[in-house]
Amino acid sequence: MVTVTAEYRDAWSAEFGIDRVGSLMREILGEEPDGVWSAPGRANLIGEHTDYNGGLALPIALPHRAFAALRVRPDRTLRLTSGQERDVIEIDLDRPRPADGPDPVHGWTAYVAGVLWALESRGYGPLPGLDVVVDSAVPLGSGLSSSAALECCVAIGVDEVARLGLGGDEDGRIILQGAAIEAENRYAGANTGGMDQAASLRARAGHALLLDCRTQAVRQIPFDLAPSGLEVLVINTRAKHSNNDGQYAQRRADCEEAARILGVDLLVEVAPRDLDSALGRLPDDRLRRRVRHVVTEIDRTRRTAALLEGQELTRETFEQVGDLFSASHDSLRDDYEVTCPELDVAVDTARARGALGARMTGGGFGGSAIALVDSDRVQDFADAIEASFAEHGFRSPEFLVALASGPAARA
Ligand code: ADP
Ligand code: MG
Repeated sequence: MVTVTAEYRDAWSAEFGIDRVGSLMREILGEEPDGVWSAPGRANLIGEHTDYNGGLALPIALPHRAFAALRVRPDRTLRLTSGQERDVIEIDLDRPRPADGPDPVHGWTAYVAGVLWALESRGYGPLPGLDVVVDSAVPLGSGLSSSAALECCVAIGVDEVARLGLGGDEDGRIILQGAAIEAENRYAGANTGGMDQAASLRARAGHALLLDCRTQAVRQIPFDLAPSGLEVLVINTRAKHSNNDGQYAQRRADCEEAARILGVDLLVEVAPRDLDSALGRLPDDRLRRRVRHVVTEIDRTRRTAALLEGQELTRETFEQVGDLFSASHDSLRDDYEVTCPELDVAVDTARARGALGARMTGGGFGGSAIALVDSDRVQDFADAIEASFAEHGFRSPEFLVALASGPAARA
């Protein structure tokens, strides 16, 4: 047995985040911020690879947030820097550079510039130039949506400094969500599905967000684990598999092809009771497995929300929820084929030690897993997973405790 100590990533208090971005702005740009805004990363409880199929997802906002200090400029220049990327980069707002244009913005600044571009293209402009400093407690590229946290802390801040009046109600937030999604899809060129931005802008503390990805309608589902003595432990495997991008696009292409063959716009239109007949109409095993994952996963998400809603939350409820989490992982591993050895080891170890359920979360091929565990045994789970990783020769993971937290707001 290898002796190890699990490493945790703490969330930042508002004061800590404000101080970090404020100090960076003074140090690097020599300016004082007009204000600081923050937005959370997310852990999806269940409903994976369902968003681009118009299905349901059930994320919670993490207590780990990205912070943006903004200062309005008298011109139309964006001047950007980040605690994670120390270069100072300038972008001219009068020269839009989307991903499909001749001179796309490369790198992380596209997520920020894209939000302003998407807001202006929706008629919210012209926006002022800004000095922007970001810093984030959300691990980058770990399936916990640092990209949406970044977009959404900027979106909510721009909303306030430019007095767009969108952040104050649900309809306005849906517009900010659309702009953040478009920034990611069309400016950063990442063809992701939209769940992350909904979670970051519309989640509520103590709740999971049941998101209908076809209509963007949401329902707040009570998710208070403390009375049952439970916690969600997030395991960031720190694994990144290089085939990630192509594989994600390939899964989307499989779903589109299956939908076309089945004569539906989106796979959400295949009802669970029609699954067998739908599978019978698909020509090959790969497409059958993809469709089976999507249809059963949407159903598991619906059942999870139903268990959590409208009754007192007991341990037995969470045991049933945990079983659905585990079934989700198995489906993602066997039918959708988006797990990897690190994710499987994290999940298998958590389950073997008595987690109520465990699954990968986010897009897969590395990134993070979640485990529903007893609060007084969190350390035991983390140590066991850490030891399993060492035994397999994997890089050491890090752990986050995921309390369902609040949405993007002024920090
Ligand atoms: P995830 O959203 O799961 O963390 P993505 O690949 O979607 O993974 O987004 C990660 C990318 O987002 C980073 O590579 C970087 O370009 C950008 N990003 C997120 N947060 C920051 C930050 N604080 N500073 C600079 N870039 C960031
Ligand atoms: Mg992302």
